[in-house]
Amino acid sequence: MPMPTPTTKRSHTLPAIITRGPDEVIIVTGGAGFLGSHLCARLIAGGARVIAIDNLSTGKRANVAHLAGTGRFDLIAHDIVMPITIREPVSAIYNLACPASPPKYQMNPVHTFRTSIDGAQNMLELAKHKSARILQASTSEVYGDPEMSPQPESYCGAVNTYGPRACYDEGKRGAETLFYEYARAYGLETRIARIFNTYGPRMDALDGRVVSNFVVQALAGQDITIYGTGEQTRSFCYVDDLIDGLIRLMNNDDGVAAPVNLGNPREFTVLELAKMVLAKTGSASQLRYLAALQDDPKQRRPDITLAHTLLGWQPTVSLNEGLDRMIAHFGQELGQQSARVVS
Ligand code: NAD
Ligand code: UDP
Repeated sequence: MPMPTPTTKRSHTLPAIITRGPDEVIIVTGGAGFLGSHLCARLIAGGARVIAIDNLSTGKRANVAHLAGTGRFDLIAHDIVMPITIREPVSAIYNLACPASPPKYQMNPVHTFRTSIDGAQNMLELAKHKSARILQASTSEVYGDPEMSPQPESYCGAVNTYGPRACYDEGKRGAETLFYEYARAYGLETRIARIFNTYGPRMDALDGRVVSNFVVQALAGQDITIYGTGEQTRSFCYVDDLIDGLIRLMNNDDGVAAPVNLGNPREFTVLELAKMVLAKTGSASQLRYLAALQDDPKQRRPDITLAHTLLGWQPTVSLNEGLDRMIAHFGQELGQQSARVVS
């Protein structure tokens, strides 16, 4: 399949939801997780019928409980490592199933790897059988510990195949290869989103990722756990922006099979993030420096030129604004209960 030539530039409006007919469904694997639950809600709000497929390992039914009453949502408890048969005609499949938090994906690394490889192949087979378009939730982790910044899609990455992050990074890289080969062999309409660190409401408070950890720790008055020096950088995208980007990419008709970065190009050190969270919460929590994690990328910042040119997409929510929403959400969720975070 030829590489896409960016030709169109569109205004930044919310994307319409496209299905091929009223009886057709959109499948979201990982639909009960953080990103998946927001995606299901947005698709349903746009008029779609959605089936979420989720093994409920890091996701939970509560994330999608509010969708049950819409009459346009079903949740199938199923592990995508195993094939699945769907009776309904399917317009599109968003393949999001996979734990995304390092402590979670390292708990059962072989299964994480199989989720990306066997799971992706099962979903590609389903897409082939249904003649459906399929989008893979890939990741900035395919760049590993990058030697260049920002990272454009053409950068091939610096990834350790033999370390604790490999089950995730190499699984996602393998999934991209499967998408590439299915598009070439069967003319399948494929999309690949390379997602950079995304945060927002409905992240699991005990998930172990940095934004949720810091917010929960600050609200609970616990030490803020900094791995290493805190000088490593990440670029944080608010969930609403990311979902907007995923839908635009799926709906894009220009045949863009090649990977597209989706993320917020504004880069922060982990220490800067910690200080922002402390200032916003007024917390008396102290910074606690812990050993650096093996293979932890030192920098990460997306080049989003392609997404901007091709999809008319760019993030609109600053970290300042997004953190306010996140803190309000976790403040409510934690309420009276005290939380111990994964560290
Ligand atoms: P999450 O852990 O909240 O959600 C993942 C969902 O997939 C959960 O509901 C989980 O139960 C389900 N799942 C896991 N393995 C499964 C399997 N074998 N079969 C069926 N369901 C399974 O993570 P998230 O942040 O919502 O991430 C969603 C997707 O986006 C993942 O594929 C992740 O790799 C990708 N991604 C996320 C980020 C981010 O910052 N959030 C960044 C890059 C890529
Ligand atoms: N991190 C940290 N303290 C925490 C959790 C994470 O210092 O309590 C750091 C982690 O070492 C990494 C960055 O924050 O450098 C982002 O970590 P996260 O797990 O959110 O995502 P990823 O490493 O996959 O980008």
